[in-house]
Amino acid sequence: MTDKLIEVRRKLADYIHKKRICFHSPLNKQKYTELPVEYPIYCLDSKMEHKNIDIGGITYSNSTEWVQITSDIQVAIKNNITSMYVLISNDWNRTMYHFIHEISHTITLNEQHKNIDDIRLQPFATENGRYTACHHPITFYRNLAILLRIAKELKLWCPSADFPGFKPESLVRFDSFTVS
Ligand SMILES: [Zn+2]
Repeated sequence: MTDKLIEVRRKLADYIHKKRICFHSPLNKQKYTELPVEYPIYCLDSKMEHKNIDIGGITYSNSTEWVQITSDIQVAIKNNITSMYVLISNDWNRTMYHFIHEISHTITLNEQHKNIDDIRLQPFATENGRYTACHHPITFYRNLAILLRIAKELKLWCPSADFPGFKPESLVRFDSFTVS
């Protein structure tokens, strides 16, 4: 199963490389970024729950250097992805959605906010001084939309009947029952 996920990651990385796809970052509007591929992927076979939220996966990243971009937001200079866990559901297309959500974490620079707007979207928020990790800033959903479009084009994932479309705001709502 892990091999299949690694293969999907490779296809996405190749496409992004070949087409010079740009991703969003609060540091620069849009920038060409290679997809990180150097971290181990592990499968989660059973559903995890955290504060009544279903968890579709977890991506671990160590970021040590931060830049202050507003008075309450800090952004990592770069992500250092150390590992990823992906929930394997009975529905492969659903698994792909979880996986692409996690992939979006690898390409979106980590942020820390002083004031979190919606704590429900930050199930693993941890305090770091006065700052709290913000796992799902709007740049995350802009990048998720780009990745989902690529996955659709490559026929790695197809939108389900209830999929609301690629607008970042719609993705926030669609995602809200499985986040991490
Ligand atoms: Zn997430």
